[in-house]
Amino acid sequence: MVQYSHSRLSSFENCPQQFEYRYIQKIEVEGEGIEAFLGKRVHEILERLYHHLGRHGRPPSLSQVQKRFAQDWELHWHDKIRIVRTEREPGHYLQQGERCLENYYRSHYPFEEGQTVALEKPISFQLDPEGRYRMRGIIDRLTRQSDGTYEIHDYKTSGFLPPLSRLEKDRQLALYQIGIEQSFPDSERIELVWHYLVFNKTLRLRRTREQLEDLGARTIQLIDQIEASSSYPANPGPLCRWCDYREICPSALLPASDAGNASSERTPPPEPTGSLHAVPATPSQATTPRPPAEDAVQLSLL
Ligand code: SF4
Repeated sequence: MVQYSHSRLSSFENCPQQFEYRYIQKIEVEGEGIEAFLGKRVHEILERLYHHLGRHGRPPSLSQVQKRFAQDWELHWHDKIRIVRTEREPGHYLQQGERCLENYYRSHYPFEEGQTVALEKPISFQLDPEGRYRMRGIIDRLTRQSDGTYEIHDYKTSGFLPPLSRLEKDRQLALYQIGIEQSFPDSERIELVWHYLVFNKTLRLRRTREQLEDLGARTIQLIDQIEASSSYPANPGPLCRWCDYREICPSALLPASDAGNASSERTPPPEPTGSLHAVPATPSQATTPRPPAEDAVQLSLL
C-alpha cells in the first residue's frame, strides 16, 4: 500500500508528468537544487541546536552555530548542485542561510518557548478509519506549551513570503495535525507555526475541526484520482526550470537564457507550500537585542 506524502501529492497536482518520472518510473536524479541544499543545511543546524540545548541545558553561542553551519556547508558541498538563477553565486545562498540562522537565534534565544517533544519527527497516519489512505511526513519540531497546546513548527528558508491567505489553505501542516491527533491523545489544542527565516517572521494558525475534516476528504479524493490515473500529461510552466527531469522531458519550458531575465526574479523556486509573491530579503535586524553571553565560551554544538 502506498503511503502518500505532501510532496508526492503536490508533484501530481503541479505536473503529472513529473509525478510519473519520479514515482511511477522511479527515475533517479543526480544532484540537487541549491535551494534544497540550503534548506537541508539550515534544518540540520536548528536540529543540532535543540539537541545541544536538551543535552547541555543551555544553548550554543551564535558564533558556534554560524561556524558549524559554514563547516557543514563546505563539507556537504558537491559539484552536482544546480543553481537555476545563474546570476547568483553560491555565496548568495550561503549568506541567506547565515541570515536565516541569525534571525532565528536572535528572535528565540534562549530557546525556552515550549517543551520540545520531538525534532525531525517522522509521522505516519491514516485519513480514513479503515486505514486505506495512509500518509507520512516529517515534522521539523514538535513542542508542547505549558497550557497543553501542541505546536507543529516548520522552518522555511525561501526568499518568498506567502500571504496569510495562502497559509490558511496550506495542506502540509494541517495534515500533520491529523497525524499528531492520532499519535498524541492529549493533543486537544494544536497550533501550526511557520518560521519564514529570511524575513524573521513567524506565522501561526489553527485549524477548525470542519477544516480538518474537509481537508481529509479532499486529500482522499486526490489520492483516488492519482490511483485511477493511467496517463500523466505534462504541465509545463515556470517551475520547469527547477524540475529534476527538465533534461529528459520533451515538454520542459526553459528560457534560452536565465541571466538577467526579469521573470527569473519573479518566479519562486518550488518551496513545498509554494508562494505567490516575492518580497525582497532584508539584512538581519540590527535593532533586535543581542542575547547575553553570545560570545561566551559554551559547550560544543556537537
Ligand atoms: S520539465 Fe516541466 S513539464 Fe517536464 S516534467 Fe518537469 S515540470 Fe513537468
